[in-house]
Amino acid sequence: MAEVTEADVRGQVLEWFHETWDPDVSLIEWRTRLLESGWAVPSWSTEWFGQGLPVWADSVAHATIRQAGGVAMPLGAASTLAAPTIYEHGSDELKGRVLRPALTGEHTWCQLFSEPGAGSDLAGMKATAVRDGDTWILNGQKVWNTSADHADMAILVARTDWDAVKHQGITYFVIDMHQDGVEVRPIEQMNYHHSFMEVFMTDAEVPVENVVGEVGGGWAVARATLAHERRYAGMRGVKFAPEQTGRVIDEARAESAVYNETYKWYPQRMGRPDLVLERAGVSGRLDDPVLRDDLMKLYSLEKASLWTAERAKANRALGRPPGSEGSIGKLATSEVARRCNALFTRIAGAEGMLKTTDDPVHATVAEVLVSTPAQSIAGGTDEIQHNILGESFLGLPKEPAADRGIPYRDVGRS
Ligand SMILES: Cc1cc2nc3c(=O)[nH]c(=O)nc-3n(C[C@H](O)[C@H](O)[C@H](O)COP(=O)(O)OP(=O)(O)OC[C@H]3O[C@@H](n4cnc5c(N)ncnc54)[C@H](O)[C@@H]3O)c2cc1C
Repeated sequence: MAEVTEADVRGQVLEWFHETWDPDVSLIEWRTRLLESGWAVPSWSTEWFGQGLPVWADSVAHATIRQAGGVAMPLGAASTLAAPTIYEHGSDELKGRVLRPALTGEHTWCQLFSEPGAGSDLAGMKATAVRDGDTWILNGQKVWNTSADHADMAILVARTDWDAVKHQGITYFVIDMHQDGVEVRPIEQMNYHHSFMEVFMTDAEVPVENVVGEVGGGWAVARATLAHERRYAGMRGVKFAPEQTGRVIDEARAESAVYNETYKWYPQRMGRPDLVLERAGVSGRLDDPVLRDDLMKLYSLEKASLWTAERAKANRALGRPPGSEGSIGKLATSEVARRCNALFTRIAGAEGMLKTTDDPVHATVAEVLVSTPAQSIAGGTDEIQHNILGESFLGLPKEPAADRGIPYRDVGRS
């Protein structure tokens, strides 16, 4: 059989879309039709809403639907982290229960992985689940959990066997956020946004059917989620043109507004290189030869970093295993953000610290200065990217670790 091409996928999606699009149904009804058509996640199997096509077909189908004026999949942890992980590792019963509402946008999800002492060293988690009959009882604290304040469900990793070695005593769960044992507290960020939370679990309950993968096999499942996180990094809420109307569009607009509220400072987190030249012009500094030199270095690095990201995307689309370009691209993005920060500071001087409301661009620049540190932390810090490059691609020896090969209970902890 001839290989399916992007043009084939686009053509088939368009044909289906024009036959099916009805702007007056509800958003959930529209996404249900999309799921049942096999164009929501065409790379999945026919048994689970897909068509067994290559991975690239997902983004081609979504882009085609959006370009045709329709609505595609919801963004956020539900469709980008939880659903693909559960599709790959969950039981059929769990898939049958959670995939559909995650993909229609009916349920929103968050990721409860990081803990105060377990971020880069995620496998060093201390949140503990103990089995009691048909239920796991969960106690512990998670932190930096984006959108946990309005999530219906969460993916979570917890220690279920303190006598196993570090990476083997971990289990991956799906938990209901709407229960008494789960308390979500907002964190005030230094840029005045509140996009992530602390989550405290006190005797929270998880049915045994909500284990994803094997009990004690959660580390492999968590790694799958982290791989999906890298794949979808940088996705933002969809904008709709004013002429787009109808119930589906209105509901999708409202959904996107909630999503964008969480992520509205993310462009600033990347440094806003698009504003540096303009700011230099406004402040009359474009003739400064040293500044011009640094501006060119910034734009060259930004271009190279975008091309690296494109290369990583193309490799993923071809189904190739992740290469060094993932870490190199992440490091380059952090460096672009830092250079923007330095340039804005030189251009604006002390005024860069003022978040005035009478000049929105000025306020944006002030926000850049306190948002860029997040770029080199989220999704694996710069130091962790250096370790990955050294150990996985340059053949350097692994970091010494005192916590391997012994029961986790016996590992010294602060
Ligand atoms: C914007 C944002 C959104 C986030 N969203 C979520 C979310 O939704 N869910 C979630 O679970 N988490 C989330 N996180 C948390 C994120 O995954 C962690 O912040 C990250 O993994 C780093 O962990 P940490 O903050 O505990 O820092 P630590 O791991 O404590 O690191 C502290 C410092 O030590 C360095 N360091 C650590 N280990 C090594 C090493 N082996 N070698 C060299 N240096 C090292 C680090 O590079 C860093 O400079 C988010 C974070 C950010 C910034």
